[in-house]
Amino acid sequence: MTRPSSISFTSPVPTRPHDPALVVFSGGQDSTACLGWALNRFPRVEAVSFAYGQRHGVELTQAALIAQRAGIQHRVVDIGFFGSLVHSALTGAGDIATAHPDHPGLPASFVPNRNAVFITLAHALAQTLGAKSLVVGVSQTDYSGYPDCREPFLLAMGRALNLGAETDIAIEAPLLHLNKAQVFALAQAEGVLDLVLELSHTCYQGTAAMNPWGRGCGACPACLLRKKGWEEFSTAAHP
Ligand SMILES: [Zn+2]
Repeated sequence: MTRPSSISFTSPVPTRPHDPALVVFSGGQDSTACLGWALNRFPRVEAVSFAYGQRHGVELTQAALIAQRAGIQHRVVDIGFFGSLVHSALTGAGDIATAHPDHPGLPASFVPNRNAVFITLAHALAQTLGAKSLVVGVSQTDYSGYPDCREPFLLAMGRALNLGAETDIAIEAPLLHLNKAQVFALAQAEGVLDLVLELSHTCYQGTAAMNPWGRGCGACPACLLRKKGWEEFSTAAHP
C-alpha cells in the first residue's frame, strides 16, 4: 500500500522539517520521547495536553514541568466533559486490571475515541498555529491493546481530517513501531532521557514515586510495561 506523503510513521526524517510542529503531549514516557524527537527536527515546537477528566491530574502537572524544562509553549485544553461520556478506569472508578465494560476484548483503561478526539482537536490547533506537522506518541508494538494506537487508524484519521479542512498536515508517529526499550533508546538519542526518567508520568495509579525506570507505582500495567522496557534497554546498553 502506498502511503500519502502527509503520513510519516517510521522515517527518522520528518515530512516537513522546515515548518513548526505541534506535539500531542500527555507528559508520559512516549510523548516526552516524541517531544525530544521533534525538538531536534523542527525549528519551532509547541505542545498541547488535554484535561479529559482523567482521574490523576499529576500527568498534567508533569507535562507542564517537562515543557518548562524544554522551553516550549505548552497549552492545556480542558475537555473535562469527555470523561462523562465514556466508560474507562482512567476517567472513573473501576479496576484497571479488568476488561472494559463496553469492550470485553479491551482493558478497562481503554478510553473510547480518546485518540480520535485528541488528534482532531490538535489538528484544529495546528491550523491556528500554522504547524504543518502533528507529532503523536502512539505505538502499536508494546501498546496496551488499544485499537486507536494502530497504523490503520492513524492513516484514516489523517486522511479524514486533511480532507475535511483542505489541509495537508503531516501526522508524525515516530514511535509507532518501537517497543518500550526502543523508546528509552530514542529518548537517550534525542537527549531527553533525563526528562523521561525524572519527570514523565505514565502510571495508571497516579503515583509519582521515583524508581530507576522513572516515576510510578511499579505494579499497574503501564508501570510494568515501562519497567520491563527499562530493563531491556539497560541490558542492551550495559550487557
Ligand atoms: Zn503504575
